[in-house]
Amino acid sequence: MSQPSANQISNAKIHFNDQGTPVASDFDDVYFSNDGGMAETDYVFLQQNGLPQRWQTHNKPAFHIIETGFGTGANFLLSWLRFREHKQQFTAARCQRLYFSSFEKFPLSHADLRRALAVHTELQELCQLLLNAYPLAVAGCHRLKFDDGSVILDLWFGDVNALLPQLEAPVDAVYLDGFAPGKNPDMWQDSLFNGLAALSQNGTSVSTFTAAGIVKRGLQQAGFTVSKIKGFGRKREMLTACFTKAEPLSQPAPTQVIVVGGGIASVCTALALQQRGVAVHLICEDNMVAQQASQNRQGAVYPNLHANLTDDSQLHVQAFLYARQFYQYWHSRGLDFAMDWCGLLHLASNKLLQQRQQKLIDNALWPAQLVQAVDADTATELAGVALQHSGIYIPLAGWLNPQQFCQQAVAWLQQQASFRLSLNCSLTAVTAAANGGWLLQTTAGELNTNSLVLACGSKLAEFAQTARLPVNKIRGQVSHVQNSAMASLKTVLCHKGYITPGWQELHCVGATFDRTATEAFVSEQDNTENLQLVNDQLNQPDWFANSKAVSAAAAFRATVPDHLPLAGGMAEQPGLYVLGAMGARGIMLSPLLAELLACQLCNEPVPLSRQLIGKITALRY
Ligand code: SAM
Repeated sequence: MSQPSANQISNAKIHFNDQGTPVASDFDDVYFSNDGGMAETDYVFLQQNGLPQRWQTHNKPAFHIIETGFGTGANFLLSWLRFREHKQQFTAARCQRLYFSSFEKFPLSHADLRRALAVHTELQELCQLLLNAYPLAVAGCHRLKFDDGSVILDLWFGDVNALLPQLEAPVDAVYLDGFAPGKNPDMWQDSLFNGLAALSQNGTSVSTFTAAGIVKRGLQQAGFTVSKIKGFGRKREMLTACFTKAEPLSQPAPTQVIVVGGGIASVCTALALQQRGVAVHLICEDNMVAQQASQNRQGAVYPNLHANLTDDSQLHVQAFLYARQFYQYWHSRGLDFAMDWCGLLHLASNKLLQQRQQKLIDNALWPAQLVQAVDADTATELAGVALQHSGIYIPLAGWLNPQQFCQQAVAWLQQQASFRLSLNCSLTAVTAAANGGWLLQTTAGELNTNSLVLACGSKLAEFAQTARLPVNKIRGQVSHVQNSAMASLKTVLCHKGYITPGWQELHCVGATFDRTATEAFVSEQDNTENLQLVNDQLNQPDWFANSKAVSAAAAFRATVPDHLPLAGGMAEQPGLYVLGAMGARGIMLSPLLAELLACQLCNEPVPLSRQLIGKITALRY
């Protein structure tokens, strides 16, 4: 096996001392003090940042804390608990959402975290929720939502010095934690203090357990005013700091947004905005939502993994892990849609796939919980059908029914006072209004809005403002196949195409790529092509001979030449955003990218690095 790549995240090596406190073996330092971890957290980080009292008078809907060193999550857990209490007690307070961005270079393994958290007997409910959501050791931002989205943890895995410049959102309070400067000099660099200063605004506060000179001077040189105060318990001193800055007035979040489109992208956008208290008017040209590319019976949800940490695969993994959390959350809220996280096998059914998969396994970038190499026997056992190829297995992957999801989500949204749905309403033109907003011509009349999101799939580039986007429409057909020989299939199977496990006795077998069609018609020839591909790639004469395509669905996938999605603002004038070009990956990408758009619209911390945002911005075209 080759050396671990620079982007590979390694779990912390820890042991527990005689008092049961976790200790980092490589740093020879404790994660929290032996004498009552939470009391120290409360004193050093919450009280010295003026929390929870500051939340009562905070004049924005969201408060943003940055922490260096997530460790066991003790600081996060106490902040979450206090914020929950704040929300219960001060229902009329403006501040109703907490963002907690924490950086961690050496995340604890799930098992170590479980053991470390066992001491916080008074916080067991929150500890369990954190454990349930705790992400795989993969570089980048993991957005985890708690308490119906009122507490948002962005867990950034990687070195804080490298990652801080990737953030954009201003910070209100900083928990400067980390192992003692003498034991971890690599972290306490000028780039850390300067990075924090760059995100600070007028009134940003900092506190840290240490009083080391290097920290005091570093903060001062970065522009903070630093004070030395009494430390916790027997500790003599610690530091607090604050930032002062003359600031321009920030843009207020919109109160109402028009979202154009009836598929998964627009529905996810509506949900993300609704969760932030923004009224949404959804405009759909069909007589029901999810009638076009989101009409699938079963859409596979899995990341496209590369051997190296490319922007594409970083985005895919982040979006995939977020999507799982997102769909499970809405399922638990009572949305009734078919979904099965049954795992996915990608078989090395041709030479190119074989080479790619070999490189992926050799590079060993991704943890085994995400992807594993399997031989043909193991693949056969996992799939429940006889297979001749080795491949890779993605145990967390699965499928879901996007049409049901969209319809259920819209039914839920319709129960919310701040949601409006216009069906059979087609947007024909957009013009900049004299007052700075947007004027929309629709088949149901004229509409006005300050904020507009175009998430209308293959029609994204049909407006004057978006015409420069090189959106290609690729017709694709999925066949709905009945076949007793495939009936025992338990996982999603990918080759050059894909087959889903049976749902209501039909398998989805797909999909064709037709770059010339101008209509999304269903054809018998495409059904034959889909089945022929299965036979060619997997050599399963039984599946081929006994298969009958009972029905099929065809739609346009929208892509742009670099095959990355389009998400973000258009430059012309503020308030116009696009979300699309997700190809066949809308189910997986939409939840995270809709979250990104909602955060951009509301000026809240975004769940992607500057680098990834730069890759998917519509401004690249
Ligand atoms: N705040 C934590 C808690 O509530 O449990 C305790 C933090 S522990 C004392 C310090 C943490 O900083 C460790 O988890 C360590 O892996 C992390 N760390 C050290 N150097 C780092 C770096 N350069 N970037 C990000 N995290 C780092």
